[in-house]
Amino acid sequence: MILPIVAYGDPVLRKKSENITSDYPGLETLIQNMFETMYASHGVGLAAPQIGKAINLFLVDTHPFEDEKYPNLKKVFINTEILQETGNEWEYEEGCLSIPHIRENVSRQATLTIRYQNEKFETFTETYDGIAARVIQHEYDHCMGVLFVDHLSELKKRMLKNKLTKISKGEVDVAYRMRFPAAR
Ligand code: ZN
Repeated sequence: MILPIVAYGDPVLRKKSENITSDYPGLETLIQNMFETMYASHGVGLAAPQIGKAINLFLVDTHPFEDEKYPNLKKVFINTEILQETGNEWEYEEGCLSIPHIRENVSRQATLTIRYQNEKFETFTETYDGIAARVIQHEYDHCMGVLFVDHLSELKKRMLKNKLTKISKGEVDVAYRMRFPAAR
């Protein structure tokens, strides 16, 4: 089932997510629905707050990037913690399914080491860099209530303010299903 994606301005995008346990109700279905929702909107990552649940869960499928280093990175990340971020900061143009039609360069460190659980609640510690790290950093941020626009300069934020307000009101054309906080 395709779920509506919560738009910028909804308070759920600002909550720090709760960790979950394997008995979280309907987890398997939720993960299936999130993959379906992500593919329907041509995303490379989707975090649970974006479908209205403030839980520490996100999924990624970075195959559209044709990244040689991680060619088939399709994964579920649960209860993720960042253990370390290292390397030089680099800029990459990010977008977000919750913030349609806005893309901006965001600077983040190159390499990150995370500890997380998969959908079977097995624990892994892994290190990523390049585009895979970037997607994970963006999705992890969602679980901490942080959006990519928070990383921009004050000037950039002011320039985007009207656009962001319009998104929260639903005054935006989007090809996928969304839920707008101020349009109820
Ligand atoms: Zn996003």
